[in-house]
Amino acid sequence: MLISEFDPWKSKLCTCPKKYSFSPYTGCSHACVYCYISSYIPNPFKSRVKKDLYRRLRREVHKVDTYISMANSSDPYPPEERYNRFTRGCLQIFKENDIRLLILTKSDIVTRDVDLLREMRVAVSFTITTLDDDKAKIIEPNAPAPSRRLSALKKLNREGIPCIVRIDPIIPGFNNEEIEEIVEEIYPYADHVVASTIKPRRDSLKRLEKVINLRDYRLERKEGAFYLPENLRFSLLERVERICREYNLSFATCREGYPFRAESCDGSHLIPS
Ligand code: SF4
Repeated sequence: MLISEFDPWKSKLCTCPKKYSFSPYTGCSHACVYCYISSYIPNPFKSRVKKDLYRRLRREVHKVDTYISMANSSDPYPPEERYNRFTRGCLQIFKENDIRLLILTKSDIVTRDVDLLREMRVAVSFTITTLDDDKAKIIEPNAPAPSRRLSALKKLNREGIPCIVRIDPIIPGFNNEEIEEIVEEIYPYADHVVASTIKPRRDSLKRLEKVINLRDYRLERKEGAFYLPENLRFSLLERVERICREYNLSFATCREGYPFRAESCDGSHLIPS
């Protein structure tokens, strides 16, 4: 199946509304150090387009009765998309079928498709973990630099497309000092912020520990992942909440058990209905 009901390991902490998950690619060339897809996708850090993509998508798209989240286990705009344009082809199918769509990306290639996005019921979620281009290279080696993501966010905002910023993951000792700065930078262009602390699985934890020292924290095993201690997580999330409140920005968290008042966690309330 290409389009499946979103089911993040049946997590009790997941607050997502009913939605569908779709990705044009298997694997993701962005190769983020903290990425957990390596726990269930072979050859995880090489984007390969799915077989028979358009024919299967056309056949399955009719079952969507809420919205599609593209994508949860790979970026729909890996470097390969610049020349092969498969995600663009999928957008055309979504547009023809008037599908409500949430795009999740770390790439500015999304701005190439603004002509389609303008005519769709869509919201775009950019992940920004740091404002420092060099620092981002350490944990997101093949993803476009944050400065490019920021420019893309500004461009889509100018085009009237609702935008979300995910500060995800927040990693103590790496980007926790930047929480306020990130929100101060993005608030004029974003309509919603999602915050999430680092939750590696066993294999991503191993990779992460090679570049960031997490040994000082007593990680808690929860729902198949390693969570930071609750008091530390909540104090980090509280800081995001506080600064979002200051700028009148809608705020939510992802799989944290931390309460929020936003209409949705993932920002899907911004997709025109
Ligand atoms: S962009 Fe997302 S899916 Fe791709 S490697 Fe990074 S965390 Fe994983």
